[in-house]
Amino acid sequence: MTIVARTPGAMRRLALAWRRQGRTIGLVPTMGALHSGHASLIERAARENDRVVVSIFVNPKQFGPNEDFARYPRAFASDRRLCARAGAHAVYHPQVAAMYPEGFSTSVKVHGLSELLCGAFRPGHFEGVATVVLKLLEAVGPDRSYFGEKDYQQLVIIKTMARDLDLPGAIVGCPIIRERDGLALSSRNRYLAPQERAWAAELNAALRLAVKALRAGASPRQAEASAKRHLVKSIPLIRIDYVSVVDAKTLLPAGRPQEKRRKIRVLAAVRLGNTRLIDNLATSC
Ligand code: AMP
Repeated sequence: MTIVARTPGAMRRLALAWRRQGRTIGLVPTMGALHSGHASLIERAARENDRVVVSIFVNPKQFGPNEDFARYPRAFASDRRLCARAGAHAVYHPQVAAMYPEGFSTSVKVHGLSELLCGAFRPGHFEGVATVVLKLLEAVGPDRSYFGEKDYQQLVIIKTMARDLDLPGAIVGCPIIRERDGLALSSRNRYLAPQERAWAAELNAALRLAVKALRAGASPRQAEASAKRHLVKSIPLIRIDYVSVVDAKTLLPAGRPQEKRRKIRVLAAVRLGNTRLIDNLATSC
């Protein structure tokens, strides 16, 4: 069974003991309600490190006032079993009061990147993410930390924070794990009613359509428009936050083909009923 650390101090002592034994440490930060996407990160961390810590913490600072913090799924017992099966040695599971004791007043913000894309629709979200990830990295001191490309903007922001603040250890991006119909696995998929679940696959279909259009010579804006048309046509009452074709590093809108061979990412966020879904695909143009 995995060891459970419940405070930053307990986590720090465990990691220190491992380091003194010469063990390398991999960290997989999560909010729990774990699925095969999380398992793929844990398995990779277990292949590449002597010891693996999975943090499970539903971080209030990354939820807006009208978002789903209170109803976000919490399933610690089954999460812990999944962590053990996937090869984790410890679960770091602090309570909110242990992470943010009274008087907590520090935040970390990666400027610019945090305001784009999802940041424009979820003010303060990436500041909450960067703050908690820095705290997790400080408590564990990992050699490598693993993040999914599912949250592509988050991955770019964490890499930027790690570079800017000279954080030791590597930030490793991992591929998106999907259902057979293309829907990216997400803890939030369980909110979807059966009909919404069927429609949700069209999000990935729309992104694939955009990539196909780009490869056929369409401009980034044309590709975005074709993906949006597909979404509106195939999902009744969908609300589209954005579909954006961006430079994979800067996350700024991709330009015309004179910038050929740049790495491009097509990202989208939509709302089906009360559920917000995100997805993205890589390409080049
Ligand atoms: P979360 O618990 O949603 O905060 O996710 C924790 C980590 O798992 C993040 O780095 C996510 O990007 C990653 N993750 C979530 N879903 C997937 C997926 N379908 N495939 C790969 N990684 C994922």
